[in-house]
Amino acid sequence: MGLVSQVFSPADLDRLKGTRAIGHVRYSTTGSSNLKNAQPLMVDCARGQLAIGHNGNLVNAGLLRDELEQKGSIFQTTVDSEIILHLLAQPHDSSGVLAALRNIQGAFSLVMMSEREIIGVRDPFGFRPLALGKLDGAYVLSSETCAFDLIHAEFIREIEPGEVVIINEDGIRSEFPFKVEKRAFCVFEYVYFARPDSVMGDVTVARVRTEMGRQLARLHPVEADIVVPVPDSGNYAAFGFAEELGIAYSHAFVRNHYIGRTFLQPTQLIRDFNVRVKLNLIKEAVAGKRVVVVDDSIVRGTTARARVVNMREAGAKEVHMRISCPPHRFACHYGIDFPDPEKLLANQCTLEQIREYLGADSIGYLDIDGMVKATGQDSESFCLACFNGKYPVPVDPSVDKFIMERRRQRLNLLASTQEQPELFDSLR
Ligand code: SF4
Repeated sequence: MGLVSQVFSPADLDRLKGTRAIGHVRYSTTGSSNLKNAQPLMVDCARGQLAIGHNGNLVNAGLLRDELEQKGSIFQTTVDSEIILHLLAQPHDSSGVLAALRNIQGAFSLVMMSEREIIGVRDPFGFRPLALGKLDGAYVLSSETCAFDLIHAEFIREIEPGEVVIINEDGIRSEFPFKVEKRAFCVFEYVYFARPDSVMGDVTVARVRTEMGRQLARLHPVEADIVVPVPDSGNYAAFGFAEELGIAYSHAFVRNHYIGRTFLQPTQLIRDFNVRVKLNLIKEAVAGKRVVVVDDSIVRGTTARARVVNMREAGAKEVHMRISCPPHRFACHYGIDFPDPEKLLANQCTLEQIREYLGADSIGYLDIDGMVKATGQDSESFCLACFNGKYPVPVDPSVDKFIMERRRQRLNLLASTQEQPELFDSLR
């Protein structure tokens, strides 16, 4: 558990021998954040050793897991990624890896390793990124191209939605086993999730974020003395906003780079503490000034509210909140850890109520048109579900409820068979 640099020493890495490797940095969505759920997950099965790293979220995980458990699969973790491993490991399934992959639905960019191959997979909607590079004649795969820069690998191309690349000693080949779907790349990768130095859709994320800031300034201009980003994710949008309106740009918030992600329970108390400890404000930079605070998004509102309070306490004359994406009103089922819609501020409040809750003088969100325009692509290319509620892959929460109920019934039945052996016999 912890950051990669804390977990693996150079000596640990030196011990690894061989010609292939996969790794995974977990951002927990499905399944809780504990060591058991850390990836890559590995099994020994009829196909030999298999390992998998998964970015995304399956929408039919409950159903598949239920089916597999009924056939006798025993799960070691609570993550949906293990389902893929079980499907691949099915000994009686002679139809192969590609057929197994056709059973899963939702968002998945995968790296898999067998004893002979490395396989990269991107779901047919292309929700999550996956890129191909080359290093000293060998192929490398990564969620983001910034990883290639660090190891001096050459970025070749993005893996296409629905593409499976198989890399072995003979080279690389592609298969397209899925039904063709309308592309639905997660637009929130551009807004917040991806690193600014990554290239996605032939453009750097930093450039898109800067353009989002410009679009935001055109939509919600304001007279102010300085523009202050909420670092780091608000930096580029704030820069674009300031440039567009000719307002001074100031890094008045100082980020504490020595606070890593904690793995404590995300209670409200700890969230509040994190908000305060991560950013500190240079008071003299904002005292007596009309300030625009630019952030990438507002989820629960706790953080944004704390920023406005910071500004007021430091003596800012006016505080205007600007957000470089539209209001988040809906849940994400494809791998970004937004809370239940009832906990999303914009799901519960009108714009005026949000402004009031934050204590800001004004508030302005970028709209969907401006956000998409900033990417240089059209809205047909993207998933926008957390903004507009239109889910590219349907999600039926009642299915999960049904499965949980069946599981509960099975457990009750199991409990009762221990008391009534004849019932157990009849079940057999
Ligand atoms: S719902 Fe939002 S966060 Fe989730 S994949 Fe779609 S755009 Fe991304």
